[in-house]
Amino acid sequence: MPFGVAHRLSSCPGLLVSIKPHGSFGSSAALRRSVRCSRTDSKPPEARLQHFKGGAADMAKLRELEQKVALLGIDCEDPSRPGFYGNLFCPKCRGGQKVERSLSFHIVQSGEFAMWRCFRMECGWAGQAFAEMKASSTVQMTEESLRLEPLSDKIIGYFAERKISEETLQRNGVKQLSGEQSAISFPYKREGQLVGCKYRTLEKKFWQEKGTEKTLYGLDDISEADEIVIVEGEIDKLSLEEAGFINCASVPSGAPGKVSKRGLPSPDKDTAYQYLWNCKDHLHKASRIILATDGDAPGQALAEELAKRLGKQRCWKVNWPKKDDFSRFNDANEVLKHLGPTSLREAIEHADSMSPTSSEPSDIR
Ligand SMILES: [Zn+2]
Repeated sequence: MPFGVAHRLSSCPGLLVSIKPHGSFGSSAALRRSVRCSRTDSKPPEARLQHFKGGAADMAKLRELEQKVALLGIDCEDPSRPGFYGNLFCPKCRGGQKVERSLSFHIVQSGEFAMWRCFRMECGWAGQAFAEMKASSTVQMTEESLRLEPLSDKIIGYFAERKISEETLQRNGVKQLSGEQSAISFPYKREGQLVGCKYRTLEKKFWQEKGTEKTLYGLDDISEADEIVIVEGEIDKLSLEEAGFINCASVPSGAPGKVSKRGLPSPDKDTAYQYLWNCKDHLHKASRIILATDGDAPGQALAEELAKRLGKQRCWKVNWPKKDDFSRFNDANEVLKHLGPTSLREAIEHADSMSPTSSEPSDIR
């Protein structure tokens, strides 16, 4: 690939927002030119892509790709024909004072993805976008199809600093994305089959594979357990393993801002917690559920929301140990890293009952 490290923007809507065009628009000439450029967009894609030899399905894929990059402010013009390289205006730096067409943009011949890089030293914005291939969503995801490879020493070192061993990483199939310098991949499995994958760079950028099932991370580890632990992140799940708890799963997404005051929505409308309903068969078997979410306010709200759905009578909540006179550790990995596996195990074992104060209904039992 002619481009170096790039971010797979397609499957990371959060990232899309963060790299929207920003800063000044440069000269007014640049602004006029950019407006003119976007007007050429009104030509039907078929006309612009007359050199494209793909069929109708490929054309749809290409159009989708164009819409995707348009969201980032990249205006695909004629030079963006698949297989060709074009110099476009960079939406990030607008080509600087000279208003250069500094963004080298390329859509691969198959139309499956686009990549770009701004060649202005001060900018260097680069990325990739993938056409959504709906037809392939029914195809079994594999480590090969996701281009996963064994962890580099750098990432193994990153985990070692967090007191997570290579053995634990291996048992959980933690790998890295091929071609990326530092994207850790956390495979989501159901009955041993890959049903999704989440990525995280060492710089804390997160995204997930397109088509990732909404499910708990580590689901297979709780399928037969009578007592289970639920944590708030993949690294916390790995941390619990270091403390001797295999029967642990992590929620796939972050915590809510606060506890909802409304009643529970019906399962089909409960979008934020769909992953819980999707794992209902696994969860209803457990007689004791220990919620080991983060100690901060969102983490506590998450514990509350989970307990509402799981039934408070079988939920226990962990209080993380004190860090000093004024504060406590925030999550499982912090405790493992600073106090060690024994303290982490004790914190889990000493969780407080969330015993119901009223006969609140719960549905996942
Ligand atoms: Zn630029």
